[in-house]
Amino acid sequence: MQLSSLLTDELNLKDYQKKALKKIGLKTVKDLLWHFPSRYQEIGQLTTVADIIKGENITLSGKISNLKFEKTWHKKINIARAILNDGTGQISLVWFHQPFIANILKEGSTVTISGKAQSNKNGYYLANPTYSLTPTSKRSFDVNNIAISNHSSVYPETKGLSSRWFQFNIQKILKKIIIKNPEELEDFIPKNILKQYKLPSLKNALLYIHTPKETKNAEAARKRFSFEEIFLLQLSRLQKKIKHQKKQTFDIKINKKKINHFIKNFSFKLTTAQNKAVKSILEDLSKNHPMSRFLEGDVGSGKTAIAAVISYAVLKNGYQTAYMAPTEVLARQLFESFIKYFTNTGAKIGLLTSSESRKFPSKVNPETSTKVSKNQLLKWLGQGEIDIIIGTHSLIQEKVKFSTTEKVYKEKKLALVIIDEQHRFGTNQRAALTNKKNETSEGKFSHLLSMSATPIPRTLALTIYGDLDLTIIDQMPPGRKKIITDIVAPKERQTAYEKINEEIKNGKQAYVICPRIEAAPAESKNNQAGKKEDSKKAGMFPALAGMKAVKEEYKKLSKEVFPEFKLDMLYGKMTSKEKEKTMKNFESGETDILIATSVIEVGVNVPNATTIIIEGAERFGLAQLHQLRGRVLRSSHQPYCFIFTESKTKKTLDRLKALTTSKNGFELAEYDLQFRGPGELSGKKQWGISDVGMEALKNIKMVEAARTEAEKILEEDSRFENYPLLKKRIQQDGLNIHME
Ligand code: ADP
Ligand code: MG
Repeated sequence: MQLSSLLTDELNLKDYQKKALKKIGLKTVKDLLWHFPSRYQEIGQLTTVADIIKGENITLSGKISNLKFEKTWHKKINIARAILNDGTGQISLVWFHQPFIANILKEGSTVTISGKAQSNKNGYYLANPTYSLTPTSKRSFDVNNIAISNHSSVYPETKGLSSRWFQFNIQKILKKIIIKNPEELEDFIPKNILKQYKLPSLKNALLYIHTPKETKNAEAARKRFSFEEIFLLQLSRLQKKIKHQKKQTFDIKINKKKINHFIKNFSFKLTTAQNKAVKSILEDLSKNHPMSRFLEGDVGSGKTAIAAVISYAVLKNGYQTAYMAPTEVLARQLFESFIKYFTNTGAKIGLLTSSESRKFPSKVNPETSTKVSKNQLLKWLGQGEIDIIIGTHSLIQEKVKFSTTEKVYKEKKLALVIIDEQHRFGTNQRAALTNKKNETSEGKFSHLLSMSATPIPRTLALTIYGDLDLTIIDQMPPGRKKIITDIVAPKERQTAYEKINEEIKNGKQAYVICPRIEAAPAESKNNQAGKKEDSKKAGMFPALAGMKAVKEEYKKLSKEVFPEFKLDMLYGKMTSKEKEKTMKNFESGETDILIATSVIEVGVNVPNATTIIIEGAERFGLAQLHQLRGRVLRSSHQPYCFIFTESKTKKTLDRLKALTTSKNGFELAEYDLQFRGPGELSGKKQWGISDVGMEALKNIKMVEAARTEAEKILEEDSRFENYPLLKKRIQQDGLNIHME
């Protein structure tokens, strides 16, 4: 057996188990061994029924009888019940949501059972106790053979695979590999690194994390796997960076005088932070390798102006810029902003989305743009008649169209690619732009500027964007009022509505954000597993019922609360035509209140909107809430944000309170990282980092250590010749690290 062996070859799996493994992405022995417990449950002292003390963690050994399986009539919860008799007396056992118990426990089987002793009027009972079948033959495997453990590992369960299943099979495989193929567990992390950071070896770490003898062993093991994940990520990102720096790029001369003149024509003065960002970017552009810079700046910090300045510098060298945004609404807004910045400069700017093609300036009126056919626009682009093209992912997908004029297009030289709200693009889409599109004529690569308004912790930025140079804009344009943020108790909802009423009567507009589009489905339709997942996604609170939905709120607010105003809805599932119309009506002030899901989070800019209500705020991350409220920080008017939450727990309220006390989005992002459970940061989904990896991100020292060590290795031995095990591991994982 090797780490790369398939589980289907190594384990006796039933069809439903194969399906379940596939669903959670466990294919190989390695995948299974790296599937870590989510927590440990202390196994109590072995005792007897006669000696039970209420409230203690106990372990009992005895015979099972009176097995019963039922489903509650109301909520359709699976319940399993049994009696355990150990000769000194009997105790009731009850399990909720564990239908698979029926496959494991049988009448009369002897089991060892652990849990917390509780009592009711019928006597003692254990709820959801862990269990192991006491070995009855030589073939069965004893959990305690590997390490005498007083902790039982609890694995994240999925439908069809119980925690117990993981315990048993991981032990089985771990034991087999240790005995038969110990070389498979030889450590790929160099010994000196392990020693320096006091990390356990791979073999020990695997034993510790699955069967810890003591909590501190489990912690050491987790630390090691955290380090391992970040170290491998750093290797791949840094290598990418080094390779990128060897590439050719366009020679761009910076004409300071002209650029300063361009900036002087803005209706405002750049902030110090904007000036600093412009300076580093212009320096990047004048280097002889392509820029890869990541510009992170809070909502409203003025990233578009920076983009305009550097596009201007590129244009003055006779090169083209492509500026890509994640939504049509945003692309059109960027286009409009650019028109303002570039009026009277002679620059020709195009807009390309799947539903619209425009060109600025229009022949008739040089201050506005005009609608053109897509073919015409692409032709102009190909001939170099367009200096700056702004668009959605159409910019990549329209590649075919580009290619008809590719020769000319290439000669015109796309020297700069800017990606706005870059995290909104899938990794593939991003790669399409950064890898393929960057490659232009003569083997030259375009300069790349990624931008994002999502504040993320520094450790996360250093890790996922480890291949990019980082600029943070930590300053807002002057004169911005602080958003007055209020966490509103349910009974004071009316006060918030009155404020909106007042603002709209003063000619302003408002947003109402709901966590869902439609009302929650009837409870009985939801199976328990699905519900669990939804609630995890939503934040942590299982009840979907009562969660505000756009369509419902729209009806209620139009009828009961704001009958005299015009309301409208915006959500992701609408067609782009519908969305565009809705946004136009809101921008023009025809609509007073826009009820939306978090789709409006992305860069929507309507300066006249001054109030935002966020419903079900506990379901959003702090950084996301911060972005949402940034929608009303678009002018010099006093903005208001009302946070509604149904939750009454102290933890949630404390977390939300950070919105009223923190200075900026970065502080909130750090807060989210430190105080929310790692799973809730959706690291896997959003950043491709596991829960264990996310733990490392709480620790800047660890991230820096992983980065330093990765740098050292790449510097001295970029082909990993002296690190064959590391090389093997990189290949096994299909990591994006190249050996040439
Ligand atoms: P971001 O993309 O960073 O969220 P924008 O570029 O959309 O922010 O800018 C938000 C608003 O602030 C725009 O209306 C823009 O004109 C204005 N703005 C940008 N920079 C400044 C500045 N230095 N002073 C005053 N207003 C500014
Ligand atoms: Mg922006």
